[in-house]
Amino acid sequence: MSISIHPSVDHGIKQGSKDFAGGTLICKCTTKPVKVAVKAQTAHNHACGCTKCWKPKGALFSVVAVVPRDKVSVVENGDKLKIVDPAATIQRHACKECGVHMFGRIENTKHAFYGLDFIHSELSPDSGWSAPTFAAFVSSIIESGANPANMGAVRSRLKELGLEPYDCLSPPLMDALATHAAKLSGVLKA
Ligand SMILES: [Zn+2]
Ligand SMILES: [Zn+2]
Repeated sequence: MSISIHPSVDHGIKQGSKDFAGGTLICKCTTKPVKVAVKAQTAHNHACGCTKCWKPKGALFSVVAVVPRDKVSVVENGDKLKIVDPAATIQRHACKECGVHMFGRIENTKHAFYGLDFIHSELSPDSGWSAPTFAAFVSSIIESGANPANMGAVRSRLKELGLEPYDCLSPPLMDALATHAAKLSGVLKA
């Protein structure tokens, strides 16, 4: 049985280019697509199994990365964007017509990841974006309808692709979140 993780990784992972400095994200609308300029290479690119990230039809995972928010700007048809859930930590700005999430933004200035926008570089025709390096929230795909009995096979396939599976974020990102929380509470002196 072949397992489809995401169309951009199913045939092997394409490595990014060292000097790549960004590109344009385009939604799936055939007329008047939303265009978002990203003037930076992505970081922390990963497959995500959570129920909130946008993923293409049929994919078990999304592929999502971060860029500095000041490098992200809506350049065309921004009137088609709306925030999926204004109460969510990450406010995902999606195209009202095709449903694609163009960028996710954190507005809480105390959040560890404040200042970073979440984007799906597969929406860009430009090549050179950083490659995904791990898989986050793997168990959560069950919440989107994946068969729990297939999880062993899904984790094996992720490992085969070089995407180490985690059921939260990767250890360095979980450490960053905990360090930020410990500094906020005063347990850890800044
Ligand atoms: Zn659209
Ligand atoms: Zn996610």
